[in-house]
Amino acid sequence: MKNLFSVLAIACLTLSCGNDSNKVIETSNDITPSTPKNIIMVIGDGMGPTYTTAYRYLMDDTNTPKVENTVFDRHLVGMSSTYPDTNHDYVTDSAASATALSSATKTYNGAIGVDMHKNSVETVLERAKSLGMKTGIVVTSQINHATPASYLTHNESRNNYNAIANSYIDEGIKADVYLGGGWQYFLRDDRNIVNEFKDKGFTYIDNYQSLETPSSDQQLLGLFDNKGLPWALDDSNKHRLSAMTKAAIKQLENKNGYFLLVEASQIDWGGHANDIAAAMGEMDDLAKTLEYLETYVIKHPNTLVIVTADHSTGGVTLGANGVYEWKPDVLRTMTQSPSAITKKLEANKITYDLANQLFNFELTENELSDLITVKDNTLRDIEITAITDKHKAKKISVNKALYTAVKKIIDERTNTGWTSSGHTAVDVPVFAMGNDREKFYGYQDNTDIAKKIFSLLNNN
Ligand code: MG
Ligand code: ZN
Repeated sequence: MKNLFSVLAIACLTLSCGNDSNKVIETSNDITPSTPKNIIMVIGDGMGPTYTTAYRYLMDDTNTPKVENTVFDRHLVGMSSTYPDTNHDYVTDSAASATALSSATKTYNGAIGVDMHKNSVETVLERAKSLGMKTGIVVTSQINHATPASYLTHNESRNNYNAIANSYIDEGIKADVYLGGGWQYFLRDDRNIVNEFKDKGFTYIDNYQSLETPSSDQQLLGLFDNKGLPWALDDSNKHRLSAMTKAAIKQLENKNGYFLLVEASQIDWGGHANDIAAAMGEMDDLAKTLEYLETYVIKHPNTLVIVTADHSTGGVTLGANGVYEWKPDVLRTMTQSPSAITKKLEANKITYDLANQLFNFELTENELSDLITVKDNTLRDIEITAITDKHKAKKISVNKALYTAVKKIIDERTNTGWTSSGHTAVDVPVFAMGNDREKFYGYQDNTDIAKKIFSLLNNN
């Protein structure tokens, strides 16, 4: 793939703009992009450097001698630290890190847009709105999850999901576009927040098809699932993040510019589950989104795209147990997530044919017998435990045991290792494209990213 500079050079040649590259810019915009008018902040939740590396090897065309670059490689500009304001524990959660990225404020884990004293702090999204820009959020979690909430609202705890959803109306509507999941929080018995948005003039959609029909000038609320969206690997649109991002941008473009937060929320969930296949499905959705933004910034040079992670998750390793190999082959052919495979193995008699069809690669005799044994042993365990302790028996889960066995097969095939079910303190990569991308070069703290965005907004 060509880098941004060669794409611009080709665009320049095609438009015969000679040696004045500003003319390219003038063809699609009537302002000189001294500062970006549109800022798109993209967060890969949990996307430490191992995830972008894994994605490169996953996408490697093995028919060519070289390892191809990905969209991440083309736009890497620096690294960011992520530590929260705790007693030098260094490991952040998504709420504290998103608050740092949104408001330049170090705070405690769990804090949504508030400082150590639980006082509200202004976010870049709020600043953009107060400057007359349009604003939006696009996520694959529920829209009131920690990361988007830290840009939109203020709460002492990320776990106050209903209160956070309520605040999206009660504190004044701060965005023009909201896309993601969350029926459970916005369509409740005690309060129908979707209707409240409609009363305020929003168009409401609840299926991906509706993203393709432009909905006039109206503001847009799209909720597509109860909580988070399905894993990308299992979703009816495996690239739903890029579909939502395109729709949001269409809605947000205006002469005053816009601020858009895009979050690939579930890379983190794949990391917590130590599920490399699910995590890579989310990475692919994010990569497709960035490939779209890569062409968008060429056509709209007054746009800045910043991409980073809030932290890394799972302590994932490419090449485990002293073996010098990482083999993503099976990840390239899988068509459904390990949790979807698990559900079907749980519901049906496990046969060689069924397992091969679900994994979409041929299992060894040992792998197949491991699955059968795990299921049989867990069922027997439940039966035996139930004789003495029914309550305890209910807690034993065939699904959980099978999911572990399914992931073990994939980890052993790929030689992927995990050291944690939680977050880790490793620095995260920073990527940037478009106008003012050089401001993000080198090492920075996550609060520096917010400081830079505030200063760019003020100069707009
Ligand atoms: Mg998140
Ligand atoms: Zn997490």
